[in-house]
Amino acid sequence: KDPLLEVQNLKKYFQLNRNETLKAVDGVSFTLYEGETLGIVGESGCGKSTLGRTILGLYDKTEGDVRYKGKDYLQTRQDRFQLTKEMQMIFQDPYASLNPRSTVYDLISEPMDIHGLYPNKKDRRRRVEELLQEVGLTKEHLYRYPHEFSGGQRQRIGIARALALEPSMIIADEPLSALDVSIQAQVVYLLKQIQKEKGLTFLFIAHDLSLVKYMSDRVGVMYLGQLVELTSSDKLYQHPLHPYTEALLSAIPIPDPDIEEKRERIILEGDLPSPINPPSGCVFRTRCPHVMDICAQVKPNFNEIDKDHFVACHLYQQQREDKKSTEAGVT
Ligand code: SF4
Ligand code: MG
Repeated sequence: KDPLLEVQNLKKYFQLNRNETLKAVDGVSFTLYEGETLGIVGESGCGKSTLGRTILGLYDKTEGDVRYKGKDYLQTRQDRFQLTKEMQMIFQDPYASLNPRSTVYDLISEPMDIHGLYPNKKDRRRRVEELLQEVGLTKEHLYRYPHEFSGGQRQRIGIARALALEPSMIIADEPLSALDVSIQAQVVYLLKQIQKEKGLTFLFIAHDLSLVKYMSDRVGVMYLGQLVELTSSDKLYQHPLHPYTEALLSAIPIPDPDIEEKRERIILEGDLPSPINPPSGCVFRTRCPHVMDICAQVKPNFNEIDKDHFVACHLYQQQREDKKSTEAGVT
């Protein structure tokens, strides 16, 4: 598969005042392949939403490189505008992201209007009706307002709006967390169906680990603005390597009895440190059950420890060095 999105050492800092900088995203790298779903999980405040918004150009990046289909779209306004045709976002709270004074028709046709698509009124209306149908709504809903819908229906409107420009990639920022559990399953089903039909690529941001597993081919775990582990969902859930991932996973029930048996609940000490003043060395060291001396001094690299398994932790650094020397024929 071809890489669709390449993110290299991406940073997004917010200067709060003269002395304080919030390091919301602090050196994130990953590649997203065509047609896959990459889940990004982490506690609230870990920078996952900021990551999504920076990739899309809604925030100016501080440093790093973002390439979509090999091209850097974040340099000029014109390119950013073009990027919105390729990449769209679905938001956590569909109520807050939909203008309450716009009808469903206006909400869904607005992006077309901005990009000059379907200038013919009849065609445009037909296209909006088509989109409504794709998300499980009907033309009866065309001239109603957001407040007349349930949370799940509003998220469907948000999805239809995101699909209006026929993007090839969707960034979904906790699209389910404002919904009742019973509705979540329906929206998950809808997203998967749309992905299959359109061959969409997804960056799926969430804090709920079980939903992410179900949605994603690969999963990245974020902590304090950094990716600490990234691998296939199966590997991540069965053999987590990073101590933070282990702790996160230990908190959710696993239906597989073989895993459940071995897994002990790991309670993390202390609070999430502030991204304004992150710990030196490893960002996780203030809460890590395995912390070593080196962890305060040296920031662990985000290394490929195993095939397609990236981890930023000193526990595995040595293992990698050993493997390297074996491969080089040094014993
Ligand atoms: Fe824990 Fe050290 Fe690994 Fe960080 S680098 S996760 S502190 S063992
Ligand atoms: Mg968020």
